[in-house]
Amino acid sequence: MPTLICVPIMVENPHEALDDAMLARAKSAELVEYRVDSLFKGDIDSTSAVDLLVAESPLPCIITCRPAWEGGQYEGSEEARLALFERLVSLDHPPRYIDIELSAIERTPGFLDRVVAARTNRQGGQNSGPTLLISVHDFAQRPADLYKTMSKLRSSDTGRVHKLAWRARSLRDNLELFELLRERDRPTIALGMGEFGLMSRVLAPKFNAFLTFASLRDDSATAPGQPTLEELLNLYRFRSINAKTRVFGVIGWPVAQSRSPHIHNAAFEAIEENAVYLPLPVIEGWESFKATLGALLDDPHLDFAGCSVTIPHKEHLLRFAQEDRSRDWAIDPIAQRIGAANTLVVRTRKSGGRGECSVHNTDAEGILAPLRARLDTLEGVRIGIIGAGGAARAAAVSLADAGATILIHNRSRDRAESLAAHINALLGPHEGSASVAHQGDLASCRVLINATPVGMAGGAGGDEDGAMAIDAATLDSLGKDAIVFDTVYNPAETALLRGAGERGLTTIGGREMFIAQAALQFRLWTGRGAPVSLMSRILDETTGG
Ligand code: NAP
Repeated sequence: MPTLICVPIMVENPHEALDDAMLARAKSAELVEYRVDSLFKGDIDSTSAVDLLVAESPLPCIITCRPAWEGGQYEGSEEARLALFERLVSLDHPPRYIDIELSAIERTPGFLDRVVAARTNRQGGQNSGPTLLISVHDFAQRPADLYKTMSKLRSSDTGRVHKLAWRARSLRDNLELFELLRERDRPTIALGMGEFGLMSRVLAPKFNAFLTFASLRDDSATAPGQPTLEELLNLYRFRSINAKTRVFGVIGWPVAQSRSPHIHNAAFEAIEENAVYLPLPVIEGWESFKATLGALLDDPHLDFAGCSVTIPHKEHLLRFAQEDRSRDWAIDPIAQRIGAANTLVVRTRKSGGRGECSVHNTDAEGILAPLRARLDTLEGVRIGIIGAGGAARAAAVSLADAGATILIHNRSRDRAESLAAHINALLGPHEGSASVAHQGDLASCRVLINATPVGMAGGAGGDEDGAMAIDAATLDSLGKDAIVFDTVYNPAETALLRGAGERGLTTIGGREMFIAQAALQFRLWTGRGAPVSLMSRILDETTGG
């Protein structure tokens, strides 16, 4: 049976909840969960409101009355909650499912027996009564006694559906949730809460989960990390995910702001590739990167096929490829020379044998492609690079390799010096050169590249105040045929590009670089040309123009 999409609705007013359920049905959800715990505040008896929801629901429903001690809002007595369930299971037209916490069964002797007895004794019902969904939640972490919990769940045959949800503390928690799905003995829901758990929610159909939850609106999620219905269906193409879907993503920290999932998922759809691309948050540090990437690569069922890698893990990816002995690695020479990689391709995966992977640095192509489209040659061209971080390094190495003369200007002079020394050591004494430059020296450059975040929306300096990484006098002093290249891609037109355009200079925006590097990644993963204009349109749409 295909994995269902269930929209949870925190019920404040039953009529509004039914309107939301109508909307969920119109947006192709198959199930709604009415969280009625919010109705039972103080002494209010909301039984009739629950009856109304069950009777009028436009979709099959789960009724959940989550107590405060299990992360919900219900603070009434267990006896009253039990009476509600007894009543619901004996209705002529009962809800399709009732959620009962395993901890409730354990806390109150006879809890489950009474619900089952009421269901068995029901009179005049047209079917055998609602299915009981037995749930386990941990809002802090993976339950320490997970395997004991699983055996308790499995030892009871009353619950027809099992649900496990815990706060994922790293991507590796998803792999364990998938393992539980693969070992299930009945329909099972296994979800990671929070940012790290998104993978378990999106890939639920790959592992045949019973359902996944998706919120109707941005602000109506009932658990941390729940995607919206819109994201699940349109961004992640949930309906096309199946057991064979290959998994890609972007590893970084933070990574939620990345637009790469939007452009790569749209591109996969355009060429009908059975693949999905996810944000893959991995906290700072070599150890967390190594452990997570190793687990993704080792998992025999995930079909992890490759990823983009961004700040702060680009150096870590290269190091992983150099140190990992479990697979055969090919390292693209340009990644080696830059000292960082941003793309991983899983080439072959052999069960019981060694897989083959490769790493690349497509930022180099992102810099070179737009310049090659505008200049006949880069040989001997004077190029000023502002910045000495990762992007500046990719630019300096790839342009120096192409024969350009590199001038590096950076806020911290020592970093500029060490980048120049790195380039000169790579090139050897007779091929081109790199040197540290004062801002005034940049006037002689044919190309000027901003490789700092200055001008980025909401970033250092901000775009709002017209911040530029160089002053206006330096722009004035450039030759008429100069090219100004800003690697910042949000906004599309930074103050620097605006200033260059006003002076009649040729400009290149960071979006062209972003799409050029993403297109090369796409080709490496799929062996097919990327739908570049579609990717550019999606990038514009998702970054506000
Ligand atoms: P990074 O390694 O952190 O380096 C940042 C560089 O910018 C450093 O040289 C830093 O100088 C300088 N800097 C930071 N804030 C500054 C400020 N307020 N004033 C002057 N200089 C400042 O970052 P990165 O990976 O190189 O990325 C830099 C930028 O490149 C990103 O923000 C992004 O916009 C762009 N980028 C674009 C693409 C694309 O595809 N379009 C790809 C990669 C990067 P210090 O050395 O003094 O700290």
